[in-house]
Amino acid sequence: MHVQERSRILFRFADLLEKHNDEVAALETWDNGKPYEQAANVEIPMVTRLFRYYAGWADKIHGLTVPADGPYHVQTLHEPIGVAGQIVPWNFPLLMYAWKVGPALACGNTIVLKTAEQTPLSAMYVSKLFLEAGLPPGVLNLISGFGPTAGAAICSHMDVDKLAFTGSTNTGKIVLELASKSNLKPVTLELGGKSPIIVCEDADIDLAVENAHSALFFNQGQCCCAGSRTFVHERVYDEFVEKAKARALKRVVGDPFKKGVEQGPQIDGVQFKKILSYIRSGIESGATLESGGDSVGSKGYYIQPTVFSNVQDDMLIAKDEIFGPVQSILKFQTLDEVIRRANASRYGLAAGVFTKNINTANTLTRALKAGTIWINCYIVFDAAIPFGGYKMSGHGREKGIYSLSNYLQVKAVVTPLENPAWL
Ligand code: ADP
Repeated sequence: MHVQERSRILFRFADLLEKHNDEVAALETWDNGKPYEQAANVEIPMVTRLFRYYAGWADKIHGLTVPADGPYHVQTLHEPIGVAGQIVPWNFPLLMYAWKVGPALACGNTIVLKTAEQTPLSAMYVSKLFLEAGLPPGVLNLISGFGPTAGAAICSHMDVDKLAFTGSTNTGKIVLELASKSNLKPVTLELGGKSPIIVCEDADIDLAVENAHSALFFNQGQCCCAGSRTFVHERVYDEFVEKAKARALKRVVGDPFKKGVEQGPQIDGVQFKKILSYIRSGIESGATLESGGDSVGSKGYYIQPTVFSNVQDDMLIAKDEIFGPVQSILKFQTLDEVIRRANASRYGLAAGVFTKNINTANTLTRALKAGTIWINCYIVFDAAIPFGGYKMSGHGREKGIYSLSNYLQVKAVVTPLENPAWL
C-alpha cells in the first residue's frame, strides 16, 4: 500500500476511536474493572493520540545513502518485516494493543494479535473500526484465546516473522524459547518490574507523596512500572509515611462505574488471592502495616489500599512483583547506599526521583538501571516517549521512534559505479 494511504487509514481510525471513546471505555471497565473515568478520560484518549502519532510516521520511514569505501553506490531500504505476532496482557488491554498495532501498521506489516483471556472486548470492538477506516481485511487478525495454546501457536509459527510480547517475566521466558526453537523470529519483551522511587531529603514532600501514591495505586496497582519500592530519606521519612498513609486512607474504592471512584476490583480471583497472600507475608516478615491489609467487604475482588512502612530489602514484598495495591516504604541514609539498593533487583523497568537538586537528579539518572527515569513526576506516558526495560524487565523499546525498528527489516543495496571518477 502507498504510504500516504497507510497514514490516512491510521488517522481515520483515530477519528473513529475518538467518536466511540465512551463505549470503548465502558468495555474496558466491564472487562478489567478499572475506573470508567480513568478509561474514558485518560487511557482511550492516550490510545487515540498514539495512533495519530504513528499515522504521522507512516510516510516518514526511509533508509539512508551510505558513503561506503570503494566505487559503489550503497543505500538501505527499510522494509516491513512481514507478519507480526503480538501478545498483550489484561492490565491496559487497549493501550497495549495500541503500542503494538500502531507502529506495526505504520511500517506496513500484517498482524496476528492475541488479547489476554480476561480482556478481549475492547480490541474486538476497535478492530471492527479498522475495517470502517479502510484497512483491508486480513491485515489485522485478532485472536482471543488462551496463552499456552493460542499464544504459544503464534510464538512457534514458522510464518510469523516477528514477535512482540507484554506480560510476566516467566511467560516472557517461555515465549523467547518458543521463538528460538521455531524460526528464530526476533522478539520484543516488555515484562515485570519492581521499580524504585527515591525521595530525597530536599524533595517537595507533598508532590512526592501524591506521585508515589499514584505510581503504586494507579490501575489497582496492576502496572508493570508500578513504583513498588519507595525509598525515603531518613530525615523526611516519618513525615512521608504519615502523609502516604493519610492519602491511602482517602483513596475511594468501589464500583468502577461510579463517579469519583479511584480504585475498582482486581482483575480476577487468582490475582486477588495472590495479593492477599503477599500482604500476609509482609505482616509476618515484620513490616509495619500503616493502612489497609485486607479485602473490602465480601463481594468482588476489592482490596484495601495497603501501605507498609519499615520494609526491608530482603522481604518478599520488597523483591517480588505484587501487581496489587500494596505500597512498600523503605528508609535510606546516603545516595550511594540508595543507588546500590535500588539497583539490587532482577528488574529494571522504571524509577522515580524526587529532589530539587539538579546534581542529585543527574547523579541518580545516570546511576539507576532502568528504562525510564521520571524526575519529580511518575507515569508520564506520551506516545513519543520510548518504554522498555533493563535486565529481566525485557528486551527492546516500544513507543516513540524506537518502536519503528522493531517492525522493519534493513536491506543494504550495493551497486558498482560505472564511472568511479564521479565517486
Ligand atoms: P499474567 O500472569 O499477568 O496474566 P501472562 O504473562 O501469563 O501474564 O499473560 C500475558 C499474555 O501472555 C496473555 O495474553 C496470555 O494469554 C499470554 N500467555 C500466557 N502463557 C503463554 C504461553 N505459554 N505462550 C504464549 N503466550 C502466553
